Amino acid sequence: MLTTDVDDFPGFPEGIQGPDLMANTRRQAERFGTRFVEEDVVSVDFSSQPRFNRGQPLTIKTETQEIKTSCVIIATGASAMWLGIPSEQKFIGHGVSACAVCDGLFFKGKDVIVVGGGDTAVREAQHLSKICRKVYVVHRRGELRAQAALQDLLNSKLNVEYILNSVIEEYLGADRLTAVKLKNTLTGEFKEMPIDGVFVAIGHRPNTKFLEGHLELDEKGYIKVSLEVFTSRKGVFVAGDVSDLRYRQAVTAAGAGCKAAFEAESFLEKLL
Ligand code: NAP
Repeated sequence: MLTTDVDDFPGFPEGIQGPDLMANTRRQAERFGTRFVEEDVVSVDFSSQPRFNRGQPLTIKTETQEIKTSCVIIATGASAMWLGIPSEQKFIGHGVSACAVCDGLFFKGKDVIVVGGGDTAVREAQHLSKICRKVYVVHRRGELRAQAALQDLLNSKLNVEYILNSVIEEYLGADRLTAVKLKNTLTGEFKEMPIDGVFVAIGHRPNTKFLEGHLELDEKGYIKVSLEVFTSRKGVFVAGDVSDLRYRQAVTAAGAGCKAAFEAESFLEKLL
């Protein structure tokens, strides 16, 4: 939902914008009768197992509704992680962001830092390079882990500079961010750097808080799966980044959605 150019989803030879892909997918689902409830799920109850002729024992509670069902596919994805340093909370929304597509325009013509060395960081830096005067990529190691093709793309941008082997120790400023304190991870030296904005792009955490105690999760909070889309509860299936620590691509998530739907249908048929 938050990305710009999607060049690696099959069927779009010229690429597609992330929000357009999402809107198209939604319309396609609606064409087959899908109803959308646009609310957060606040809790679930999977304690009763769905059985032949026994009604709909699985419960999903949203902010205003309680939905009873025999089968669930969880596809709640993962959310951006923050650095977690003490000064961070104060500056989120005041110079610190985790989404260049959402907040990039606030930094038009300004100097920003992107933190991270993965695909997300490179994508964020690439997007910001079109808007900002200067983009610094601050990464804790000496080399990025992002795909070579994305790195090549970023290397061609004249206003992008790498600050490697470095981490942000502290955000500085009164009401708004005006500088950061950087630490060199090799030498341990500190330096203050004036900056208008920081975009944190260091990975994601699965959105599974509401599932704790109801489904088996791994130590990082990802839903444990067997045979790709089966969870620890009967009738509860999973698709996408909420259980996928390795691939985390739109195309793999869509494929998992297809597999989960297959299994859900076959599970429901056995209940009839
Ligand atoms: P990622 O691959 O896990 O990369 C996270 C980066 O942040 C790493 O470089 C890591 O450093 C750094 N990092 C982690 N914690 C940190 C901390 N506390 N302080 C400083 N740096 C920290 O996450 P991602 O970039 O979000 O990518 C996730 C998945 O989505 C990947 O599979 C990726 O391929 C996919 N993705 C694809 C695209 C695309 O265009 N195809 C775009 C975005 C994401 P180290 O390198 O030292 O570990």
